[in-house]
Amino acid sequence: MKKTYKGSCHCGAVHFEADVDLASPSQRCNCTYCRKTRYWKSFVGTDDIRLLSGEADLADYRAPDSQWPEDHIHHRFCRHCGVQLFSKGYLDMAPFNGWFYALNLASLDNVDEADLAAVPIIYENGIADRQDQPPVHSTYL
Ligand SMILES: [Zn+2]
Repeated sequence: MKKTYKGSCHCGAVHFEADVDLASPSQRCNCTYCRKTRYWKSFVGTDDIRLLSGEADLADYRAPDSQWPEDHIHHRFCRHCGVQLFSKGYLDMAPFNGWFYALNLASLDNVDEADLAAVPIIYENGIADRQDQPPVHSTYL
């Protein structure tokens, strides 16, 4: 069941709220971006993340070597403290079928450690472009 949580960056410039079901699977991936940022993502709808403050403090990063057309994945992070908050993406394939958000669960504030520990995790072999399969090694992700 979806619940509404508060989220923020580290310095406090950016605050948002997000509707997310912590019982639904999250993803950890070994692609070059997720590995370097230790991205812990959960896919939600475009209405499920609402910025409360810090629009001007949000930077927008698009991978230069992305396999996807430019503008299709926007990684949003605080330009002051660097914390990755969420990404907005567009994929013309199921289950996305259009615009979506990937929420970085690590940026949520009012969630119990025990609840975070219980979130199901799917490991993705993104470096091999096989998000449908786990990588050989995943414990470091
Ligand atoms: Zn910040």
